[in-house]
Amino acid sequence: MGYFGKVLSGFGSLLTGMRITFSQFAKTFFGRKNVTLQYPKEQPKLAPAFRSAIKLIRFEETGTHDCVACKACERICPSYCIKLSGGKVEGIKKKRVAEFEMDFSLCSLCGLCIDACPTDTLEYSKVYEEAGYNRDWRVDLVAEFREYEAEFVEKQRVIEEKAATAKKAKAEAAKKAKEAKKAKEAEKAKEAEAEAADTAEKPDTAEKPPALEAKPAKADAPAKAEVPTAEVPTAEAPKS
Ligand code: SF4
Ligand code: SF4
Repeated sequence: MGYFGKVLSGFGSLLTGMRITFSQFAKTFFGRKNVTLQYPKEQPKLAPAFRSAIKLIRFEETGTHDCVACKACERICPSYCIKLSGGKVEGIKKKRVAEFEMDFSLCSLCGLCIDACPTDTLEYSKVYEEAGYNRDWRVDLVAEFREYEAEFVEKQRVIEEKAATAKKAKAEAAKKAKEAKKAKEAEKAKEAEAEAADTAEKPDTAEKPPALEAKPAKADAPAKAEVPTAEVPTAEAPKS
């Protein structure tokens, strides 16, 4: 493209930009559509795919998170920004996290921790006002859940007790069904044995079919009649 061609192309590009700017200005000016908002009085409407700092999900059924301190997220994190501790809690079988420290200054929001979590208790938050004045951006993710922990443990204890009772009842029912099946099979085997013994004791009264008479041996074929050999008289020679 020559010099004048480049100038014309740049001018065309400028006009395109100006057209978009003026069209948006006109929309805003005549009140049809606002492209800006009065932040912070107005908050933006975030897109469904918007992703921000990782957080623990609060489940409605339990009122808290479901982190079982398995450390899968800590192991998989490529930026080494998760440090957590936890373990068994008295009264329940389920393990619980005690501390969950996230260093957001290292997090790249790659989402590997979300994918690795076996209880699906991690997700991206929609927080967008996280500006700060220093680089130390560590957050204990379980801090906001601590006050619910005692309540959760009590609820979980009841759930586990119910599950254990149901499991026991199921096992007993299965055992009973197995025993009943075994008894039925033994009874059947006994009946079959008795029937076999009855059949063996009964005399053999059934009339036997008459034995097939032996076919008479084939009469010797009559000897071939001897063909009499007629004596041929020998003509005596005339005496001379
Ligand atoms: S999003 Fe990625 S970098 Fe951030 S904590 Fe999870 S695994 Fe680590
Ligand atoms: S992977 Fe999930 S359950 Fe396991 S420690 Fe991390 S957040 Fe907790």
